[in-house]
Amino acid sequence: MKIGIIGTGYVGLVTGVCFAENGNEVICMDVDENKIERLKTGDPVIFEPQLEELLKKNIGENRITFTTSLKETVQTSDIIFLCLPTPPYEDGSVDISHVLDVSHKLAKYVNSYKVIVSKSTVPVGTCGAIRKIISKKTKYSFDVVSNPEFLKEGAAIADFMSPDRVVVGTRSKKAAKIMRDLYSSFMHLTERFILMDERSSELTKYASNAMLALRISYMNEIANLCEITGVDIHMVRKGIGSDPRIGSSFLFPGVGYGGSCFPKDVKGLLNTAAEFGYDFQTLKAIDEVNRRQKFIMVDKIKKHFRGRLKGKVITIWGLSYKPRTDDLREAPSLTIISELLKLGVKINAYDPAAMENFRKLYPDLRVKLFKTNYNALKNSDALVLVTEWTEFRKPDYVKLKKLMRTQVIFDGRNIYNPAEARKNGFKYYGIGR
Ligand code: NAD
Repeated sequence: MKIGIIGTGYVGLVTGVCFAENGNEVICMDVDENKIERLKTGDPVIFEPQLEELLKKNIGENRITFTTSLKETVQTSDIIFLCLPTPPYEDGSVDISHVLDVSHKLAKYVNSYKVIVSKSTVPVGTCGAIRKIISKKTKYSFDVVSNPEFLKEGAAIADFMSPDRVVVGTRSKKAAKIMRDLYSSFMHLTERFILMDERSSELTKYASNAMLALRISYMNEIANLCEITGVDIHMVRKGIGSDPRIGSSFLFPGVGYGGSCFPKDVKGLLNTAAEFGYDFQTLKAIDEVNRRQKFIMVDKIKKHFRGRLKGKVITIWGLSYKPRTDDLREAPSLTIISELLKLGVKINAYDPAAMENFRKLYPDLRVKLFKTNYNALKNSDALVLVTEWTEFRKPDYVKLKKLMRTQVIFDGRNIYNPAEARKNGFKYYGIGR
């Protein structure tokens, strides 16, 4: 099939590369000229496991091309995926202007029947708005389909290649058949195609992300209660997760969720509820608990140093909002670092993938970046583990002890064994233990 991707970011690029890998002819478009030039050379621009190798392979086999031309993308494609940003406004409502602008612009290039698919996460009714815009500007027939994306950054290729489910929202039999055919090669063993109307599909994405965010915020509150009552969250988590009605995933407490999706989608759903006159209490709590949780480690640090933090050197391991990505959007590290800087702390930091993005976003030279995690620890008064990259999981305590001025670990993801850290002479602070 001939596929056009509009917006070649985390979702667009992964979608394009995976469709190309499955034998389709893909053209990816973006307004960012520099990004398109880099993509043409096989540089994926973002860090995502397996992406570079699949990108290079599919460029080499002429199945994927890159352009800044919207006209070329629309006219050479049968199915057009909108993978555009839908960021939050200050008040939490969703900015769908990129999606609507592109719909206005692409409509005049439609030259045959097209399926226009929203992969962007958009509020209920957006696909209807896209349809209205395009129908005013073209005489050709077309369908607008909602197909929310559920990939996880850090495992995006694997998720796309082997999806838990593909949700497609459309009432058009023709578009549904095309979408089913397109995705059939990703579902060899079991059918995981869920067809519904477009508004249900639009809401499914928000409901799904909000549910995951709910589990995290709930576990963070249970962890906070564990601390007050002298209970170990690690044991409680095991006890809860063994109930098949609950399941064991997404029960890990930490320093709060971040990323481009959970924070904005919780707020976006809250906004939809408000627009329809519904007071969504649990959503409000998820958001507030997460906001507070990002300060938990700073409070522990303040308490440990009895407020005397001026001039202290604190090392941060992990900047990205989660492992295996260079994405810093809404990362807890940003809140922790800016709070510590306000208290006069000097920051040393290391991240395996996100340092380049961090420097662009955070030019403040009071945060020093280092080439290795151990280099960052030299003369440090404390280590704060913020992102659980695998390379941080088994620290060499002897080396740590030699490098650090004082031996304190603030483990924001509970990846270290407290007893082992203590045995090695470290003061250990986790979350809920
Ligand atoms: P992103 O910011 O990484 O990528 C968006 C791309 O669109 C950028 O490259 C940008 O230059 C381009 N763009 C902006 N305006 C454009 C225009 N007018 N024409 C062409 N290109 C334009 O965003 P993302 O993380 O890929 O997210 C895209 C959508 O997918 C969002 O709605 C998001 O909520 C949703 N989503 C994201 C994830 C994720 O993990 N990142 C997962 C599921 C769904």
